[in-house]
Amino acid sequence: MGLLDGKNALITGGSRGIGEAIVRKFVAEGANVAFTYRSSSAAADAIVEDLSTADNTVMAYQSDAADFQNTQDTVATILGDFGSIDILINNAGITQDNLMLRMSEEQWDNVINTNLKSVFNFTKALLRPMMKNRNGSIINMSSVVGVFGNAGQANYAASKAGIIGFSKSIAKEVGSRNIRCNVIAPGFVETEMTEVLDDKTKDAFLASIPMKRLAQSSEIADVCVFLGSDMATYVNGQTLSVCGGLNT
Ligand code: NAP
Repeated sequence: MGLLDGKNALITGGSRGIGEAIVRKFVAEGANVAFTYRSSSAAADAIVEDLSTADNTVMAYQSDAADFQNTQDTVATILGDFGSIDILINNAGITQDNLMLRMSEEQWDNVINTNLKSVFNFTKALLRPMMKNRNGSIINMSSVVGVFGNAGQANYAASKAGIIGFSKSIAKEVGSRNIRCNVIAPGFVETEMTEVLDDKTKDAFLASIPMKRLAQSSEIADVCVFLGSDMATYVNGQTLSVCGGLNT
């Protein structure tokens, strides 16, 4: 028996990194999974094929989470395929780092639209069906950078801080309908997003992390399993830092 048996989950940005780890853990815990990606169709197809031996339904959807209409259409297709969604994980995200003096309007807009507007887009598309079912767990992927700020990441930090305020508001709006909305704020996780950092930056991060290592994607996915499962039915409106003690 899995912790997510019989539940249907929608995970954005499931083709790589943390999102892929969430897809794999959710399937292992018994969930049926719809996941989106922006352009990595070969990676997405490989994940679906790899997991197709399981009893669960796993399907991948190309979509731009930053685009409002595209998201409404994608969610309509997914609801047609799965019937209902119990767990929404807004995980898709990007970085386009620059110091404020050099940051372009495009870098600002790209990061805000992909990281924050996407959370609005998917929540908007799924909230009404979740309210009808009187059931839902929404998990939004923020970052410790949204809590602390970080030089060179004003766009990213603003998007991730915005997710926290958004999620607390949704928790208050629809908690009475048995819909929970929580945030995970990972520290530094070993993925393609952090692979681009130079050794000096990585060493500085490591020095400040009490556990003296980066997180594995699977350690973030484990917390998603908890928040999506019936182990967390009274956890609502919270931000869980999963950061090896960095945010302490
Ligand atoms: P990643 O390895 O770069 O993967 C990003 C995923 O998001 C990919 O599946 C990508 O799809 C998808 N994506 C990007 N833009 C999209 C769009 N417009 N529409 C749909 N999908 C889109 O990133 P990660 O490190 O796993 O990060 C996942 C989340 O955790 C992000 O929200 C990130 O901000 C957050 N986070 C990461 C860290 C870290 O240290 N890595 C720390 C704190 C928080 P394609 O493969 O098609 O491009």
